[in-house]
Amino acid sequence: LLLAYDPARRLARLQISLERAAVNARMIYEILDMVPAQGDRADARPLEVKGGEIEFRDVRFTYHEGEVVLDGVSFVAEAGKTTAIVGPSGAGKSTLISLVPRFYDPSSGTVLIDGTDIADVTKQSLRSALAYVSQQPWLFEGSIADNIRYGRPDATDAEVQEAARMAQAHDFILAQPRGYDTPLGENGANLSGGQRQRVSIARALVRNAPILLLDEATSSLDNESEAAVQKALDTAMTGRTVLVIAHRLSTIAKADRIIVMQDGRIVESGTHGELTKSDDGLYARLQRLNKEADSAGDPPDTSAPAA
Ligand code: ATP
Repeated sequence: LLLAYDPARRLARLQISLERAAVNARMIYEILDMVPAQGDRADARPLEVKGGEIEFRDVRFTYHEGEVVLDGVSFVAEAGKTTAIVGPSGAGKSTLISLVPRFYDPSSGTVLIDGTDIADVTKQSLRSALAYVSQQPWLFEGSIADNIRYGRPDATDAEVQEAARMAQAHDFILAQPRGYDTPLGENGANLSGGQRQRVSIARALVRNAPILLLDEATSSLDNESEAAVQKALDTAMTGRTVLVIAHRLSTIAKADRIIVMQDGRIVESGTHGELTKSDDGLYARLQRLNKEADSAGDPPDTSAPAA
């Protein structure tokens, strides 16, 4: 009987079924460890993470020949700091982030972590340095504890609960019929949107990875959920290198650096203060669109197409 509840076994079974399934690219982000680590070089070595600095050096990328999606992208996301990526839809933000776990490799140029070309390290060591929180949390039909532990299968119950506390999820979990053992419906159907996001943040936190990749949600939550999710994210971001596809002005304004993308290129970068000094830059225009959308009652979204 005990074996039937062994979470590692259940996760292993799940891993096999998901590897067989065709999973869409956005979903894959959240299941970093499930992507088969093919393509390691024969001499690949484990990544040694010091601070977790991420550098893109003249990165070009195409999905299909002739359609350049990233065109000479260079920037440094400093260790322990938050770098926000903003820009209109289709600018290449998600593609840029997907190169960090090596879901794709650059067509040319280099991505480095702490000065090491990530093409030279094992994918397993690379991915264990990363945690990902997506717009649409991916939850599976297991208990809440299993869903959190998915971030690190050998986490103890105490570690799972500590992560849930930090993610503002512990109290609502205890209020569920069976607490941490409460089974989740398909994709967490029995939780609210904000609760699903907090379970997903707890999963990232239990991983305790030095680098956090974050695709900020655009959907609006009620104020109370919004505040709890924000607090959970603030905790998750503290002390980590964060690369965030940012939609909320509050996240963007707090970022140490903002990178503005358009048509696969970085067109501006700087702090919120620096970028709002000039009125005619893309960032300033996106902010104006944002404010208009805001006063029209729509959720803030800097990915709105630039006029
Ligand atoms: P959004 O804010 O809408 O998510 P984005 O800035 O994240 O957009 P990407 O999703 O990176 O932009 O897309 C950049 C370009 O690459 C788009 O033209 C898109 O159609 C294309 N693209 C994205 N993913 C793929 C894929 N898997 N195969 C082929 N083309 C893709």
